[in-house]
Amino acid sequence: GKALEPFLEHCFRGINMTSSVKIYGLLGFPLGHSLSPKMHNAAFSELGIDGEYRLFEKQPQEVEGFLKSLDKENIWGLNVTVPYKEKVLEFVGVDDKYINEIGAANTIVRTQDRLYVYNTDATGFAIHLKQVYGDPTGRSVALLGAGGAARAVSYILASCKVVQIAIFDIDKSKSESIGGMAKELAPDCKIEIADSIEGLDIKNKDLLINATPIGLKESDPCLVTEEALHKDLFVYDLIYNPAETKLLSLAKKVGAGCSNGLGMLVSQGAQSFQHFTQTQGKIPLDKIVDIMTKSLTRGD
Ligand code: NAP
Repeated sequence: GKALEPFLEHCFRGINMTSSVKIYGLLGFPLGHSLSPKMHNAAFSELGIDGEYRLFEKQPQEVEGFLKSLDKENIWGLNVTVPYKEKVLEFVGVDDKYINEIGAANTIVRTQDRLYVYNTDATGFAIHLKQVYGDPTGRSVALLGAGGAARAVSYILASCKVVQIAIFDIDKSKSESIGGMAKELAPDCKIEIADSIEGLDIKNKDLLINATPIGLKESDPCLVTEEALHKDLFVYDLIYNPAETKLLSLAKKVGAGCSNGLGMLVSQGAQSFQHFTQTQGKIPLDKIVDIMTKSLTRGD
């Protein structure tokens, strides 16, 4: 009853009741659409691990201060999204060869004494592409977009020794930067920086990957014409909402294979979760993928 309240307040004075729960979250701007809290909170709850995943929508000028305050805020891990995947490397000391090669990170883990960074977009894409398409070794690829996600995608393609990557981005310097990274990783891979979508020569490619945000909005155009596609092509759209973009509808229409990016989203999330909770080798990745996938289809 009411009479007990002052006494209880006295007992718990100075104690932050939530302090034992480790905080994790997503850093980016803007974040309205994110499915990550749903996926990670479902995994914390179903695996009985103490943790809470929140959204940290920060303006560019707030990012450095935020990253310095992680221990004060009881934050133990972050995913990083647009527009900070490259930027965070400036603030977090990175001694990881792979992250330096990719030039972008989407996962930060804090331990007692230091921060670790990972790029699970890259490994998430690798795992999902293998599932839906198979090994891309020896294939030729057309890539739309040269932002943070495209960097991770290109890193995997170059590491898998594709024979050719043609890149188009409205900002040519971004394509050139990604092309340079791919060339260093795979000197035998032919890199083409296209001036237009036509310049990608999709007719002569095995794989077309959309790593632009074009297709997220209902009003977005389809970047590629039906004539440019062919039935032996595989189209991978990193967008997962909507589940079928105009690009994927067109791919289906011409009889091409296709996939959206939901499998990549869940795979990168599950791998980040393993890093956050240090459960590699203890909880199988497939189990986390399963919980996260279900959390997205439950509709709650
Ligand atoms: P980003 O860093 O903003 O990169 C997008 C790039 O595409 C930018 O360089 C942008 O150029 C370029 N672009 C925009 N419109 C274009 C057009 N019409 N033609 C050619 N290039 C164009 O974003 P991101 O993080 O790489 O993400 C890209 C997409 O992948 C988003 O839709 C995101 O939701 C998706 N994604 C999915 C997953 C997954 O797990 N499935 C993971 C990461 C990202 P400007 O900067 O000059 O506009």
